[in-house]
Amino acid sequence: MAILNVSNIQRFSTGDGPGIRTTVFLKGCNLRCPWCHNPENISPSPQTLVFKAAGKTATYGVIMTPLEVADDVSEDAEFYNAGGGGVTLSGGEPMLQYEGAAELAAILKERGISTLVDTAGSVPWGNFEAVLGCVNDFYFDIKAGSREKYAALTGGDFDLIVSNLKKLVARGASVTARIPFIPGVNTSDEELRLILKVLLDAGVGRADLIPFHRLGSAKYAAMGLDYPFAKTLPPAAEEVARTAELLGKYIETGIE
Ligand code: SF4
Repeated sequence: MAILNVSNIQRFSTGDGPGIRTTVFLKGCNLRCPWCHNPENISPSPQTLVFKAAGKTATYGVIMTPLEVADDVSEDAEFYNAGGGGVTLSGGEPMLQYEGAAELAAILKERGISTLVDTAGSVPWGNFEAVLGCVNDFYFDIKAGSREKYAALTGGDFDLIVSNLKKLVARGASVTARIPFIPGVNTSDEELRLILKVLLDAGVGRADLIPFHRLGSAKYAAMGLDYPFAKTLPPAAEEVARTAELLGKYIETGIE
């Protein structure tokens, strides 16, 4: 049986998919986005964060079997049925742990619980193929619209994520693109146009804008790290609403 390196399990999570959900955060990521709000999930090693101001510590990283995770999240199964809820696998990059993710999603499927995978997509295609039969939905991050910018921002391979996105859509998977909307990084009209072109080329039918926030700041401090985006303000609500509306319209009509 495969194993899962679990950072934490968050019940009644919001923003990680429709309905009432439990989010299983898996530890370890192969990208390095400087605005990341889950820095505790980047290293695969266990970590204890010391929140000095709150006088608290929190430890992230425990090895569990897919069955152990399934039994844990199944405790809230009665809440998932309302509003299309279920279990979200997030991270870090959950698709790095595709074998455990596939086993977990298969167990949940048998129990009538749906699974959504929230991925940045920078893994070999075979990892996706392994979970296609048991994962119901994918949230797929697109952080930049060009090879050069994507590599400079994340250290990842733009061609690989675009190829994976196209293949997922072509295989009939339920895919929602997620665009982190990061001031000073990808909020210009030019950058958004490039991202939109990627989504339209891939045939993605849904896209969400995810506005930057600083809720992860305390975790950087608790890890003894400087947060490169500590002074960056979240985008104005009007700008987010206007951009999201335009994005939705273009995705629907196919106009670039
Ligand atoms: S892909 Fe997600 S978890 Fe990984 S560094 Fe980027 S924002 Fe953080």
